[in-house]
Amino acid sequence: MKHIAVLTSGGDAPGMNACIRAVVRTGLYHGMKVTGVVAGYEGLINGDFRDMDYASVGNIIQRGGTILKTARSKEFMTAEGRKKAYDHVNAQGIEGIVIIGGDGSFRGADVFTTEYPDIKVIGIPGTIDNDLFGTDFTIGYDTAINTVVNAVDNIRDTATSHNRLFFVEVMGRDAGLIALRSGIAVGAEAILIPETKTHIDKLITQLERGWKRQKSGHVIIVAEGDDAGGAFKIAEIVQQKFDKLETKVAILGHIQRGGHPTCMDRVLATRLGYESVIGLREGKNRMMAGQVSGQVKFTPFSQTVKHIMDVNDTILKIAEIMSL
Ligand code: ADP
Repeated sequence: MKHIAVLTSGGDAPGMNACIRAVVRTGLYHGMKVTGVVAGYEGLINGDFRDMDYASVGNIIQRGGTILKTARSKEFMTAEGRKKAYDHVNAQGIEGIVIIGGDGSFRGADVFTTEYPDIKVIGIPGTIDNDLFGTDFTIGYDTAINTVVNAVDNIRDTATSHNRLFFVEVMGRDAGLIALRSGIAVGAEAILIPETKTHIDKLITQLERGWKRQKSGHVIIVAEGDDAGGAFKIAEIVQQKFDKLETKVAILGHIQRGGHPTCMDRVLATRLGYESVIGLREGKNRMMAGQVSGQVKFTPFSQTVKHIMDVNDTILKIAEIMSL
């Protein structure tokens, strides 16, 4: 393979830049031409391409976001849009594409490579949600949970000083993995996630128990997709039934997406960026490069997006015991 392209697609995640850098430098090292595609699938459709050299990815390993920009593309969901993309790719002589993104991006890549099998594609998991099968961690997740931990540590200072009950809403419309891991790390009194049913009465019993043993300050982590509603709604219901502590809500929102990637995310991004190019050189196609138990593993797109992310019951049990 002589000419590859790299793009970032869907939601941005810290570590995407480190990954672009690794793809570009590994490709150049192996004598390939490397093209950067601007704004994900939109860039493929519009033929928005950049030649990448060693210097074009200098001084970016520590930066959040993505220098190639990212986008969600309605047009790529249509056969006409994908045809335009293919025509541009073909005209450039691009033989392989590395796609850094989440499950939506891989669904798109799966459709595209079914229609145009002469273009080889390898995916790299770049999403803060950690909701892909075939990798223990996605690029950006570690940074996001550390951002949450730092923010909640700050909030807890106020919660403790004023004896307040804080509901902190974190990202996770479909998956509670950010809430679960960060919740354990901040010693949350409860963690409410979409994967499990939220019982408000049980929550109140827990709060009463904490109040009786004079716990100062309570922090409850709520994933935005929790079945009982968002943090504001849950806080309102709880406040009506439990008025011993003043209730406050903090929505962490987009601060969770940005920021300097952690060491773990930079290393993961670099390793998977490198492996994606090696994979393309070896003829791998329609797969995501992930890391499982410390080993690099390639998983077909069709399996990565199955959403069979079971929440570990033991982790839930640990969280419950720690909050007693
Ligand atoms: P993420 O990759 O972070 O999950 P999205 O779900 O927004 O982000 O997906 C990114 C893009 O992938 C979409 O905007 C769309 O262009 C493309 N895509 C997603 N699903 C499909 C599909 N079934 N067919 C074609 N393209 C798709």
